[in-house]
Amino acid sequence: MQRVDLPIVNDLGYYEMRLESIGGLGANLCGKLLGELGAMYLGLGAASFASYGSEKRGSPVKSYIRWCRPGKEVRINSPVHHPHVLGIFHEALLDSYPVLQGMTEHTRLIINAPCKQKHWPAQAEIVDAGALAMRYKSRVNMVMLGAIAKATGLVSLESLKELISHTLGQRYPALLASNIKGVRAGYDVVDERAPKGDAAVYESEKPRRYEEAATGGVITCIGNIVTHDLSASREGWIPLFHPDRCIHCGLCDSTCPDMVFQFAVGEQGPVNRGLDYQHCKGCLRCVAVCPVQALTAVKEREWPEKPYALPNQSLITADIPMEASGANSWMSSEAQETERRIEE
Ligand code: SF4
Ligand code: SF4
Repeated sequence: MQRVDLPIVNDLGYYEMRLESIGGLGANLCGKLLGELGAMYLGLGAASFASYGSEKRGSPVKSYIRWCRPGKEVRINSPVHHPHVLGIFHEALLDSYPVLQGMTEHTRLIINAPCKQKHWPAQAEIVDAGALAMRYKSRVNMVMLGAIAKATGLVSLESLKELISHTLGQRYPALLASNIKGVRAGYDVVDERAPKGDAAVYESEKPRRYEEAATGGVITCIGNIVTHDLSASREGWIPLFHPDRCIHCGLCDSTCPDMVFQFAVGEQGPVNRGLDYQHCKGCLRCVAVCPVQALTAVKEREWPEKPYALPNQSLITADIPMEASGANSWMSSEAQETERRIEE
């Protein structure tokens, strides 16, 4: 077992981490693993817990981890306000949710994003966890686990490998090698020392009085179908349809858990007219099942050059023409016209 000392702790004697994520990216599991890492592999006192709304993909999720020096116990289960390490599992959260709150000039900030954007804090360290997870056939949370552990400056890669082997490796032995590669990829990206520059500081939100709270049931954040902005509800990848390759076998339609594919009646049978991205959660099962690569995985990204795009259209990859993206394409499609004529 690796034995470490905690060089910095807060007034209560804790080294604290906060993970900001959305349901489906595995931040809850990542937090549990960081807790276990502290207690079982670093010889520290440790605790972790998560907070989330409805247990579904797309809901905001926070995970909190506390470590303390050996001989002391973690005795509190309150949210972490001033984390030593802050992990942001989806870049879209930065524009929509106060995920940087409570960040101090000493906070190590790890963001899952393809590249650094100018308005992000100077101390932001960027890990393209989506792309790395895809490359190593692992998951976003494994890459982020490696990156966050490295950012603490306390954890050896060997300890991480041990952790993954004894936990996930026993449950999912077939995935052990790829998960270790994913963890290692995140570990290698982050520097042990914090980046230089003027570190940004963000105040914690003041506790609200009861009468100031949002009315019960009002959804004030993105990532749900009420606001029609689904940019935070996927893991960063979506299927791209290549109509010229499609043989209209229907396997994608029977595999898709969300009935995303739009088939119309053609002269020689059903015709695949493409996807309604409004319902796609990016699981990529359709890509795996398509026998002729008529569906390929592409990186989902914002569409800033189309400022007039509706929120649900702004999340589609720029590789897809506007008129072929989402519900609008379906509404104006030939199939819809046919349906309308039949109704008339
Ligand atoms: S599985 Fe592939 S080939 Fe078959 S209908 Fe879907 S996209 Fe077309
Ligand atoms: S990625 Fe998943 S949800 Fe989206 S179309 Fe393919 S199977 Fe359906």
